[in-house]
Amino acid sequence: MTADSSPDRRLARALASLRGLAVGDALGSQFFVPANYPLLKRREVPSGPWQWTDDTEMACSVFTVLVGHDRIDQDALARSFAEHHDFDRGYGPAVNRLLRLVREGGDWRELASALFKGQGSWGNGAAMRIAPLGAWYADDPEQATHQAEISAYPTHQHREAVVGAMAVAAAAALAADPAGPPAPKTLLDGVIDLVPRSAVGAGLRRARDMLDYGDAATVAAVLGCGRRTTAHDTVPFALWSAARGLGDFERTFWATAQVGGDMDTTCAIACGVVASGEGGAPPGEWLEQTEALPGWVPVAAD
Ligand SMILES: [Mg+2]
Repeated sequence: MTADSSPDRRLARALASLRGLAVGDALGSQFFVPANYPLLKRREVPSGPWQWTDDTEMACSVFTVLVGHDRIDQDALARSFAEHHDFDRGYGPAVNRLLRLVREGGDWRELASALFKGQGSWGNGAAMRIAPLGAWYADDPEQATHQAEISAYPTHQHREAVVGAMAVAAAAALAADPAGPPAPKTLLDGVIDLVPRSAVGAGLRRARDMLDYGDAATVAAVLGCGRRTTAHDTVPFALWSAARGLGDFERTFWATAQVGGDMDTTCAIACGVVASGEGGAPPGEWLEQTEALPGWVPVAAD
């Protein structure tokens, strides 16, 4: 069944995904605090408020550009990233510098393509912010991957970073099936069909082969869980976890966070995808303890 393409439904789905992404990011980042390690083992949440990081800040820009333009306008997106860039939200050094230069009048096209000796960044930053875009385009998953592709370029131009964003957007689009969340294998099959050949794609095939593994730590050891903060070291595991957790936000969060790695980002991805679908909203108490979305996001006050 195809999801509703009306502007109201697109906005509602994207906002639900954005809120899930923010909870995953904010709560995931709590477990970098050593005092909270024992809580993670016991699957207990620390007391709030939980502050979100760069994942949510950038996702808010993606959402705001979609609301304002009904598609991704790359210049508007780069401007929003640069204007709202808060140095203290845990951005990587290359993106910190790039966004400062864009704010000072630099051209994102030149700056982003020059990163890492002209290869562009293959970090997971384009993927971590994109689940709400997939939710927006749930009525057209192919368009979700296309818009995700162009949304990556203002900061991430390496093929793996771009494909990582495409894969997460495809997953969020497919997760929002109005007939209910797809089966885990159906979700990953659909994502694999929508992304080009790449290390991310190879990782997704491996993730599909491991869907019946009970032990997330083994899967993370094989697929990676963001320790290198690259797209291919992050996206396959995050989507493995999301595929198995559709319809159950808490289960998804704990399965993703428990293996460590780049926890704010793996949880932002997996939780943003799950929250895009029916029954995938975060628990109300978790949402309450998560820092509110910034005031510049349209509808943040809802
Ligand atoms: Mg972060």
